[in-house]
Amino acid sequence: MGYEESDDTLVCDICGVSLDEDSWLAVAITRPHAKRLGDVGAVFCGQPHAAAWIASPLPDPSPLATEPRSGRDRVATAGFWAVIAVVGAFSLAGVVAVAQWVGVL
Ligand SMILES: [Zn+2]
Repeated sequence: MGYEESDDTLVCDICGVSLDEDSWLAVAITRPHAKRLGDVGAVFCGQPHAAAWIASPLPDPSPLATEPRSGRDRVATAGFWAVIAVVGAFSLAGVVAVAQWVGVL
């Protein structure tokens, strides 16, 4: 969006003119995409070019980034569920013990 690859200069996405820090206009569009919100945006030299961009078909949102799960993440997830299982087992044992103490079981 709006950057020249050579030196990170801000440029208009329609005409490519270099923009200085005080004379640019940015437009961002948010819409549903793949069960979440997809954003597209562009920077322009002025409202006429922003209007031309809005009037044209919008580009597809950038593809959803799917981060590969590392082995460390899998171990952390397994550890979390192991702790939940132990806490659940002790809670159930506690409920059974209290029920036996009260005389329900
Ligand atoms: Zn322009």
